[in-house]
Amino acid sequence: MTQEIAYPALYLKRNEDARLRAGHLWVFSNEVDVKRSPLTEFEPGEICVIVDAHDKPLGLGYVNPNSLIAARLVNRGTAHALDRSLLVHKINVALSLRERLYAEPYYRVVFGEADGLPGLTVDRFGDVLVAQTTTAGMERLKDDIAAALVKVLKPAALVWKNDAGSRAMEQLPEYADIGYGELTAPVLVREGGLEFEIDPIGGQKTGWFYDQRANRDLLAPVHGKSLVRDARVLDVFSYLGGWGLRAAAAGAREVVCVDASAAAVEAIGRNATRNGLSERVSAVKADAFDHLKALRDARERFDVVILDPPAFVKRKKDFVEGRLAYRRIAEMGMQILARDGILITCSCSYHMPRAALLDAVQQGARHLDRSVQVLAQLQQAPDHPVHPAIPETDYLKGCICRVLPS
Ligand code: SAH
Repeated sequence: MTQEIAYPALYLKRNEDARLRAGHLWVFSNEVDVKRSPLTEFEPGEICVIVDAHDKPLGLGYVNPNSLIAARLVNRGTAHALDRSLLVHKINVALSLRERLYAEPYYRVVFGEADGLPGLTVDRFGDVLVAQTTTAGMERLKDDIAAALVKVLKPAALVWKNDAGSRAMEQLPEYADIGYGELTAPVLVREGGLEFEIDPIGGQKTGWFYDQRANRDLLAPVHGKSLVRDARVLDVFSYLGGWGLRAAAAGAREVVCVDASAAAVEAIGRNATRNGLSERVSAVKADAFDHLKALRDARERFDVVILDPPAFVKRKKDFVEGRLAYRRIAEMGMQILARDGILITCSCSYHMPRAALLDAVQQGARHLDRSVQVLAQLQQAPDHPVHPAIPETDYLKGCICRVLPS
């Protein structure tokens, strides 16, 4: 093996290189030839050369001996060291996609595996970056990542929002802090001509759900028509009111947002005022299931109901229960829909397949003796590109449905 870069080798067992060659980036612990390269000899996050059973190097990656995913491939081939300049290159490649898609600097600039940077997520809010590492390998590269991001994007501040529960699988602590620069003013995101104030340190995930932007765009008028024009709209699991405020801006007559988070509900009020929409938008702090039930009991009716919940199927073993929750809320949503209403329902659970979500909606509809027409199937926005070899990168699904009596 001619190997110019001195990284330790992680040897795969025979034939265990096939998935990597087919495009995937993960090495599971049972695929490692631990006789040749004991996992225990690696430190969590250590950079390695991933080598097949015939001694051919596949590329550079990093190891976590404590994780089921023992290694992730970061770069094919061994011509370039896994260093700051490789990170700069990869961030530039990722950035050029977003610059093709969006005129303004508000987007997910790095989406992990799909951008060849497994374990790293970076969202851009103008001159503020919010980054997240979910693997020991990326955590170890933090200083280089920060330097590369500063070089490419010249932000005023970089926040590390490293509080995802999934970090526990890599035995990483949870924290959120400022990694570079300072936050001097409220952080804003611009979407669909609106401005939303977000909280990059205390907010949910990175502070904003860019993955739904293209779907929220579907509320805006096309062919001179909008699904929400003059409608009474309910935005359930609204967070900062992304869907609800976009609906109001698209001409909804009245919008009610519902979320369990007091901070989110307060922010909706400020965001509505900021965009001159406060007369038509209200927000309720409540449990979605309880509130949907209360609305049903009060015989309230909405023309459009939007359901964008947190992941109900976080792990594969939660599927049966989670699937039921998707069905239950779809059904509850339909119960408060006006005759011939529109239901928009979504799932960000990777373990909830698209077909299962549609099925849940259909079953809920039949239970209520309604019928459904699917007008659009939704997926994550293109700043969250799907890696075709890695199904886990294709996680967001949803549908826009017309709900008719029987
Ligand atoms: N629709 C949002 C994203 C929703 S994220 C957008 O487009 O930006 C999920 C939201 O559900 C979070 O804001 C969380 O506070 C809220 N949530 C979680 N469980 C809830 C429950 N049981 N009832 C109401 N809201 C809930």
